[in-house]
Order: sequence, then structure tokens, then C-alpha cells
Amino acid sequence: MTVDSAPDRIHQPPALLAVDLAKSFGETSAVREATFEVTRGEIVALLGPSGCGKSTTLRMIAGFERPDRGQVQINGETAVGPGIWRPPERRRVGMVQQDFALFPHLSVAENVAFGLADGHRAWWTRPWRRFRQSPPPERVSEMLELVGLREFGERYPHELSGGEAQRVALARALAPQPAAVLLDEPFSNLDQNLRASLRLAMRRILKAADTAAVFVTHHREEALSLADRVAVMREGRIEQIGAPDDIYYRPETRFIGSFVGDANILPATSFRHGAETELGFVILLNPSEGEDGRPLDVLLRPEQLALKNAEEDDAEAARVINSEYYGHDQVVRVRLPSGLQVETRLRTESVWQPDDPVQVVVLDDAIGFAR
Ligand code: ATP
Repeated sequence: MTVDSAPDRIHQPPALLAVDLAKSFGETSAVREATFEVTRGEIVALLGPSGCGKSTTLRMIAGFERPDRGQVQINGETAVGPGIWRPPERRRVGMVQQDFALFPHLSVAENVAFGLADGHRAWWTRPWRRFRQSPPPERVSEMLELVGLREFGERYPHELSGGEAQRVALARALAPQPAAVLLDEPFSNLDQNLRASLRLAMRRILKAADTAAVFVTHHREEALSLADRVAVMREGRIEQIGAPDDIYYRPETRFIGSFVGDANILPATSFRHGAETELGFVILLNPSEGEDGRPLDVLLRPEQLALKNAEEDDAEAARVINSEYYGHDQVVRVRLPSGLQVETRLRTESVWQPDDPVQVVVLDDAIGFAR
């Protein structure tokens, strides 16, 4: 018989809870009222432009920065709150720094053991450790196995690739079984080509470790592909938090719409449950209450549009401006009769030339923002 632990978890507090966190540096309000929770096994991305307060939020959770207001709870215990302050080492939180911060003079196994309780630490701190009279603690081997570096225990950080160093840093953070692991721009020091495969590896490792994870990034693809939920920050506030497809297809603000993906913004007027645009009537996923005819902006992603051939003498036709071929798809820019430009992302079976007359077809329901 298998034991299903899920019902127990329903009654558990979230692994990580941040409530109304706020922090200013002099005149700069770095974080204002950041509230979110992360359950065990969940991966949350803090996504936003440079300077929006992502790292400060992470550092307040880790205990490297004292919030001016607000609370952090870890597994239901207050780590910081009114009259309460737990230092970082007493928070059950693991941290992976941007540069991985491995100890260069310690082997991989010793780096991983560093995070363990004192009893285990004796393994590498005793003076004759170089003679390796005993194998590393079981937990170290387990962690190296988890991150796929079982054979790497005796290597030193300078003998690792960037991706391997990242996994060692992750193993070190996970070794003491933290309630939450925090990752500050975990891919920023890695080769662009490696990032996609490392994201998948990172997700697999975090899921296998069954810990709560929060990572900071300003790359939308990283956030959308790795996280279960994405919290988009702007000017110190969390503007929206939700599943990647919610954030992408149902952004609550124009800023989020444009920040998390390429966006066509079309002027429109409200009509019933949708809007009239230059591309015709579109149904809105978020129809607003009120009279018809109110001015709106409608957001459509490039892949939500298609092109059809039009007649050369069709006065209503749009015209192709240019196209970029990517193999798996192509981006074709088009000028509408009004002069407005839209971007479409299409499969590559048709080739479009500049000045081709085309009709732009809306494939999906859209999102509207009041103007
Ligand atoms: P990035 O993506 O560039 O790392 P971020 O979203 O992580 O940015 P934070 O590093 O949290 O942003 O910074 C938020 C704001 O607080 C910025 O305006 C920054 O200049 C300011 N700030 C952060 N740390 C300090 C500090 N120790 N002293 C003064 N100002 C700070």
C-alpha cells in the first residue's frame, strides 16, 4: 500500500510566507508591501526589470537584509517580524549566489558538506582530512547523486564547468534539507547556449528535492520555463503572481503584458464582451462592465495572429514590412492600413516578401486594458 502524504500537507503552513515586506535605502524604496507564499515542492520566480527589488526581497527572506516592515515565516515559524529576528543560519533556508560562491580551497564533496550540521562538518574540518581516511557523509553522496555529479566529489571548483559549479552550489544549499532554497540569478554567469538545458536540470533537481524554491531573474523565458508560479515585480511591488500561462496570456497590467513577452497593443473600443479593433471584433478574456464604446488597448501576442494572402489591389490589405526566419518559426512584421505595425509569429511553410499584401487574422481571445 502506498502512503499518500498529500492530505497531511493541506494542513501544513506554507514552506515560505512573506507578508508586507518593505525596505528602503535612504530615499530609495527598494521593496514595498511584498506578499507571497511558496508551498513545499513549488518553484516561484521573482521576475522584473533591473532595480525593481527582486534581490532585496530574496535577501530579506534569507536574513541578509533587515526589512523595515513585514514578516517572513518559514514552515510556520517567524524568521523576522515584530520583535523577532533569526539570523540567516537559523532560518532553514539555503542560498545559491549568483557567482555560486564555492570555496576554492575545498573539494566538491567538502563544499557540499560545508552546509551540514556540525557533526558532519568534522569530516572536512579535521586536520588530516587530506588523507581521506573516511568517506564523505552519506548525505553528501546523496546530494552529488541528485545533481548528477556522483563522480565529482574529489574535484576542486576550478576543475568544474559553469553548469557543474552551479549544481555543486545547489547541492550545498540543499544538503541540510532546508525548508526553502533561494537562488539569485542562478543562470546569469552561464553560457547562453547552456541555459535552456540547465533550466530543465535545475527544475528536475528542485522537484526531486521537494523543497520550496524562489529564484530571481530578469529573463522572462527563464521565469516562464522554470517556475510553477511567477511573481512579476515593478518598482518594489509584486504586480501580479500566477502560473506562467496566466502571466503570459492574462496579464493584469499593460506593463506585465509587455514585460513577459512580445506584445501587439491595438487601440480599440469596447463592444459587448469584446472589442472592435482594426483587425475586427475580438473577444476579450477580461471583458469589462460598462457601456459600449469605451476606449481600450487590446493585447495580442505575435503567435495569436496569422496572415492570409490578399489581392494586390485590396485597399484594406496590410503590407509585409519584413520577416525574420528562425527555422522553427518566423517573425513577420506587417503595416496595417492605419499605419500601425504589428508583429506575427508564424510557421515557416509560407515565405513572405516585403510589400506582400496580406490580411491579418486574429486566432485567439485577447486581453483589454482600459485607456
Ligand atoms: P537587479 O536585477 O539589477 O539585480 P533587483 O531587482 O534585484 O535589480 P535590488 O538589487 O533589490 O533590485 O535593488 C532595488 C533598489 O534598491 C535599487 O534601486 C537599488 O539601487 C537599491 N539598493 C539595493 N541595495 C542597496 C543598498 N545596499 N544600498 C542602497 N541602495 C540599494
